[in-house]
Amino acid sequence: MLPLSLADLVERVGIADLGAEFDTLLQRLYPICRSITGQGVRDTLAILAESIPLQVHEVPSGTPAFDWIVPREWNIRDAYVKNSRGERVIDFKKSNLHVVGYSIPISQKMSLAELKQKLHSLPDQPDWIPFRSSFYRDDWGFCLTHRQLQELPPDEYEVVIDSTLADGSLTYGELFIPGATSEEVLFSAHVCHPSLANDNLSGISVATTLARYLLARVRAGLTPRFSYRFLFAPVTVGSITWLSRNEETVKRVQHGLVLTLLGDPGQIHYKRSRRGNAPVDRAAVHVLQSAGVPHVVEDFLPYGYDERQFCSPGFDLPVGCLMRTPFQRFPEYHTSGDNLSFVRSDKLTDSLSKLLAIVDVLEHDATYVNLSPKTEPQLGRRGIYRALADRGSDGGNEMAILWVLNQSDGKHSLLDIAERSKLKFEQIRGAARLLEECGLLRREPLGA
Ligand code: ZN
Repeated sequence: MLPLSLADLVERVGIADLGAEFDTLLQRLYPICRSITGQGVRDTLAILAESIPLQVHEVPSGTPAFDWIVPREWNIRDAYVKNSRGERVIDFKKSNLHVVGYSIPISQKMSLAELKQKLHSLPDQPDWIPFRSSFYRDDWGFCLTHRQLQELPPDEYEVVIDSTLADGSLTYGELFIPGATSEEVLFSAHVCHPSLANDNLSGISVATTLARYLLARVRAGLTPRFSYRFLFAPVTVGSITWLSRNEETVKRVQHGLVLTLLGDPGQIHYKRSRRGNAPVDRAAVHVLQSAGVPHVVEDFLPYGYDERQFCSPGFDLPVGCLMRTPFQRFPEYHTSGDNLSFVRSDKLTDSLSKLLAIVDVLEHDATYVNLSPKTEPQLGRRGIYRALADRGSDGGNEMAILWVLNQSDGKHSLLDIAERSKLKFEQIRGAARLLEECGLLRREPLGA
């Protein structure tokens, strides 16, 4: 299969300007009031379905999912706090972060002191609205900047939250792209945060763009080796619900990544799967190391995003997490500072290019056997030096040729060789292709 690359993506998908494409998608998704259930998730998935054939699933409230139960569905139309002059001093229509997610409906008059019990602000970041939710308890509240809070005078306030919390369903989206084998690669992005850009929309937009690319390649006859599954679900209860309905499917998952926090200016971080050294972990670490850019690799921790569920001991899936700055480690996290100007399209593009390189390793890792293993074969006679000169770095280099010949005893894969030689995977792969063409290598069947 042809290597996956950003340049190939842009051409095949027919994107004139990838940065502008990201910006447009983020601008459309940003205003939607998402939560773990409700119309916001459906509206989000409907926008994604314009560019990928997403299958949308609705799971009724009350459905058991392992130790969990699909919650009631939350929807909100409006919410405000009005002063005695009838002015909206806190207004959901200005930012959906103003309302605590999953707030029960309320319509009541109260004093400032009573109201303050239900207000959340960030004294250390006085210009940002915090993001708060009350998923599993019946409660309500408003969030506001600390400056707004300090400016509220004593008054009689009218407090209205026009929401419903009722039986409905939990919504998630899924896309399956069949490959040459039924072994699967799983990508998952959460779709349950309101107007937060990095935490939510960055993963959604990178995953969607990768899916568009794989689909374009399939249309061009470039069937991937693996089948690909993309999951767009609310965090925690969404992935738990999906897992509970897909216990057979997950047996086929060979590799997986949770995609989140991919648009901030920080370094790329890779969090290993619970297994620690699964092929996806090794592929990710190799790609980041050989890219020669600052990055961080962290060990698994049973905290974070949906890798918590995929890597629970009953599944122990080989699913890592690709991100830039991890959650809680940037001040904008879970505040109105995580907005469209915080997420940068050049960083989304950079994250996508790393993701493509990881997928490329997974797709092309293979094991070969040297057909002339007793001493080094004579390379000049077979025109290998000339071919190296002609192909440039795409054909590998002499060291890559020597490494591949030396290690191809049927026991070491190209990724093994790339790790041991500290050469880039694409050089090793290029060398293997050249040696195979010259009759010096035989590829072992997949899965061997
Ligand atoms: Zn979050």
